[in-house]
Parts: sequence; structure tokens; C-alpha cells
Amino acid sequence: MALTAHRHLIWDWNGTLLDDLDLSVDVMNTLLARRGLPRLDRARYHALFDFPVRTYYGRLGFDPVIDGFDRLSVEFISGYDARRLESSLHRGAVGVLTAAAGAGLRQSILSAYRHETLHEIVAHFGLTAHFDHIAGLDNISAHSKVALGHALVRRLAVPPAEILLVGDTLHDLEVAHELGVDCALIASGHHPASRLQATGARVYPDLAAFAAAHGLQGRSDSGGGKI
Ligand SMILES: [Mg+2]
Repeated sequence: MALTAHRHLIWDWNGTLLDDLDLSVDVMNTLLARRGLPRLDRARYHALFDFPVRTYYGRLGFDPVIDGFDRLSVEFISGYDARRLESSLHRGAVGVLTAAAGAGLRQSILSAYRHETLHEIVAHFGLTAHFDHIAGLDNISAHSKVALGHALVRRLAVPPAEILLVGDTLHDLEVAHELGVDCALIASGHHPASRLQATGARVYPDLAAFAAAHGLQGRSDSGGGKI
């Protein structure tokens, strides 16, 4: 894998650094059960999950006449937030963040999660100091990270070609394209390797594989500040 000159990593949070797939499936199953709709398992979730979430909600069988999508979003986020600390970081998350910092890279988070809650959970895991910026949405409808991403890239003052966005979904790839930044996808989150690989994007099975491909295992003494 040829390494390009990336100086800043923009991380997605849910599914990329945080391993919240099972929690997301479980919380959505409570919404489905309340309405007598078919349950999700990991495979069905992987097949159906999408942004915008209204597309995903439609695929799950919710009736938009009975359940407005905004109301479903509120119900899901409420259930998720109540249990958010049940999730753990993905294996290797702290190691790759630490190694990237050691290699001189700057790092930020760009997330569709609500801004205040995002800050709180990143702090809960002791990761705040790793990031120059922690950018979440200011509403809970998770429309898109594109506008938020443009604002973040402007604040970074780093050429887009020197930024690598690391995410776990097709939406992260769309965001990267919109921002004009490079993208790496990790297939241990909310979308399966098959859907990610179909885009032709660079896909890694997990954070360890991403770290290995970019020389971000353990201590790094490259010192150049680029990967
Ligand atoms: Mg994600």
C-alpha cells in the first residue's frame, strides 16, 4: 500500500473507534419489538443500515404515517444514550491513536453523534487529549456530517490532500469525497466488508490492520509527521 502524505487523521467515532454495533442492534430491537416488527441480528443490521437514517428506518418496516422518523430518531437515541457506557472501544483504538500522535500526526473526531454527548463519552474513555477538535452534530437527527466536516477542515488549515478520514460506513466515504480528503474504511463497525469493498475504497478488517498498513503499531519514531 503506497503511503501518501497525510498529516491529519479525522476519525469517525461510532463503529470506528467505539465498538457499539451490538448496542445499536439491541436498542433498535427494542423499538422493533414495541411495534411487532422483525428483529435485527448483526447480519440483517449490516445489510440494512444506512444514512440518511430515514432510509434505514423504512427498510426496517417502520410506518412513517404512524411513526415519524424524527420521533423514531428521538426514541432510538434516548434508548442508546441510556445504555451508551455499555460499549467499549474497539481493540487497538488507544494504541493506534497513541502511535499516530507519536508519529507526529494531528487528529480530530467528526461524528454524527450529538456534540455534548460525544465530548462526554470521549472523555469517559480518557481520549480527549488525543484530539485537536471533537466535532459532533448539534441535533439528534444525524442528517449528514458533510457541513460539519467542511467546517472542521477549514479549522484544520491543512490541505485536504493531507487529511485522511477513517470511518466504518458508506456515509463516511461520501463525506470524505465531499470534503476532498482521502478515506480509509474499517470493516468492524456498522457496515460489512462486502458493502465497503464494493465501492473500491481502501478497506481494512479492523484497526490493527489499518495500523499495520500505516506503520502505526506501537511506538513510532518516524518523526516526519506524515503517513
Ligand atoms: Mg460510524
